Amino acid sequence: MAQKTNLAQGRSYLAIPGPSVMPDAVLRAMHRAAPNIYAGELVEMMPGLVADLKRVARTEHHVAMYIGNGHAAWEAALSNVIAVGDKVLVPATGRFGIGWGEMATKIGAEVEVLDFGRKDPMDMDRIGAVLRADTGHEIKAVLAVHVDTSSSVRNDVPALRALLDEVGHPALLMADCIASLGCDRFEMDAWGVDIMVAGCQKGLMVPPGMAFVFFNEKAEAARAKMPRVSGYWDWSPRAHATEFFQYHGGTAPTHHLYGLRVALDMIHDEGMENVWRRHEVLASAVWAACEAWSTEGTFGLNIADRANRSCAVTALRLQSPNATALRDHVEGQLGLTLGIGLGMAAPGDTAWHGFFRLGHMGHVNGQMIMGMLGGIETGLRALDIAHGAGALDAAAEALAQR
Ligand SMILES: *Cc1c(COP(=O)(O)O)cnc(C)c1O
Repeated sequence: MAQKTNLAQGRSYLAIPGPSVMPDAVLRAMHRAAPNIYAGELVEMMPGLVADLKRVARTEHHVAMYIGNGHAAWEAALSNVIAVGDKVLVPATGRFGIGWGEMATKIGAEVEVLDFGRKDPMDMDRIGAVLRADTGHEIKAVLAVHVDTSSSVRNDVPALRALLDEVGHPALLMADCIASLGCDRFEMDAWGVDIMVAGCQKGLMVPPGMAFVFFNEKAEAARAKMPRVSGYWDWSPRAHATEFFQYHGGTAPTHHLYGLRVALDMIHDEGMENVWRRHEVLASAVWAACEAWSTEGTFGLNIADRANRSCAVTALRLQSPNATALRDHVEGQLGLTLGIGLGMAAPGDTAWHGFFRLGHMGHVNGQMIMGMLGGIETGLRALDIAHGAGALDAAAEALAQR
């Protein structure tokens, strides 16, 4: 039998929800000799970089930077305001909400999880009932994941703020925007978020390695009342640095800073509104295709209602043949890497193979999205996977009608 032609040579495409595609300009900015960290260009670059980072978060308040990933940002944020024995409320809508709650447990917090499953956003009524019952204001913080990357649900953070205000509950509102920052609209100050955590490797288009904690005056006041805060995670010297090394608690992530500088320039040259709008339009093409595929066979979108879907990541089901077969095929034969399913079934459980995710965050444009969708269509055909027709037409139409 004639061997099938492999089509994976050429520029590959990593379409997973983080790390995301890195712009060549970011990579070029990082490809350089070690800089002086005591004086010169890098040191002088910091005030502008901090200001531009805050503009992405839409905050006028503070940011602390760490060498670390998203998990580091989780622990850093908690370490500054949650003491051993403090209570936190975790309205979870996927694996990452659960994970942040587990992190809180590990630093000694008393954690109450309100689990909304894997397919639905937070239910404000249920959260409201818990907050109202807490008349002694034992709950010190609500840990809300804006976009849970495992389920691809996007939660209504302003509604959560409105709920806290309506109940008159003083708990800190903490938001995980690791997946959503620079992708889905997020406005820290206007939305009344007290603490927000992010990483650099998703919407910010830089290799993994930097973690950010943004915080306002209310959070700073909570920090001031802490019996102790671990030295490395303490956000105070980092956010109020007078010397370069203080921003980073030691040697700076020099090359990440150069990459981040270029990424922030790209974001602000495009404009935050345009960045959010681009993600919205590209996501609408992804959804149009996935909805068409879902009309036959076992292909399905995890989040039914478009209003509850993130514009940065899409979680999907595919049972027969399963998602792993499709992922393996498009990676090996076409040079397209799709994300594994996360938090839907335990690794090792065969059900695990029935889920996958598409990353469409950061440095992505129309032709990349059409290429990704075309790769999936090709894989569905090559593997004889039952699927609805017209997906690529629907996606092209969504982009044409933007
Ligand atoms: C990626 C992600 C994390 C974890 O980030 P790591 O860099 O993998 O530690 C946490 N929360 C959300 C919402 C994420 O998307």
